[in-house]
Order: sequence, then C-alpha cells, then structure tokens
Amino acid sequence: MPSSESGFGKHADEAGGSFPPVSPFLAGARSRCPRCGTGALYKGFLTVDTACNQCGLDYEKVDSGDGPAVFIILIVGFIVTFAALFVETTFKPPYWVHVVLWGPCILGLSIGLLRPFKATLIALQYRHSAVEGSVESGAQGDDGEP
Ligand SMILES: [Zn+2]
Repeated sequence: MPSSESGFGKHADEAGGSFPPVSPFLAGARSRCPRCGTGALYKGFLTVDTACNQCGLDYEKVDSGDGPAVFIILIVGFIVTFAALFVETTFKPPYWVHVVLWGPCILGLSIGLLRPFKATLIALQYRHSAVEGSVESGAQGDDGEP
C-alpha cells in the first residue's frame, strides 16, 4: 500500500524534509507533533490542530477514535479499584469516604490522561502509517470457495 494513503498525507520523505525519528511515546507524553517532535498537536485541550506549526504535517485526517478512552477506562479502573480495595481493607472507612476519595480521583485521572493518550495514539498512527480498514478488491484465493 502506498504511504500516500496514510491518514497524515505526505510523510517526511515525500515532503522533501528530513526529520530525526521521534519516539511516539515521548511525542505523545508531551502532546507534540509525531513527525518533528516540537510542534504543538492540539489547539485546545483536546482539539487537534489542522497542521503542525513547525513542520507543516497535515493533521486533517487524524482520528484516534475511541482508543484513548478505552485505555483510560482500563487503566483508571484498575488503579482506582485496587486503591479502593486497599483503603477498605486497611482502614475500613465509612462509605462516604470512598465517594469523596474516588469520585474526584476518577475524574482527575481520566481527564488528565486523555490528552497524552490521544497524542500517543495519534503518534503511533503516524509511525505505522495506519489507515482506516478497507476491503481490497481482487484478492486472490480468498473468495470463500474451496
Ligand atoms: Zn511537526
């Protein structure tokens, strides 16, 4: 599949520029451009900008989908569940303490992790030239007949 079908438009080699490799996890943690690692990815809290303000990488077709939310649900659920179990078995507080403790904790962790997780998935999408799934026509030997 030609890389021009990537959701990011032109890659570094096609754009004529040369960029050192950027770790998708570092770029994601800093919410930076997946190609140059210095330009801002967001123009708001979670709104992806139209293009990188440093290297011009097109962000128009970027779509991380529900991926960040799924990872955050699993990670925050794991952390809060085991923290609540630890507090319950160790201190045996009244139930209102759990509500006061874990409600803000869930909100804070979820909102705080959403931005870097979304940026990391976008950077991984760029690194692996991920595109939407499609059915290739003319597939050989996979028409369902023996
Ligand atoms: Zn950039």
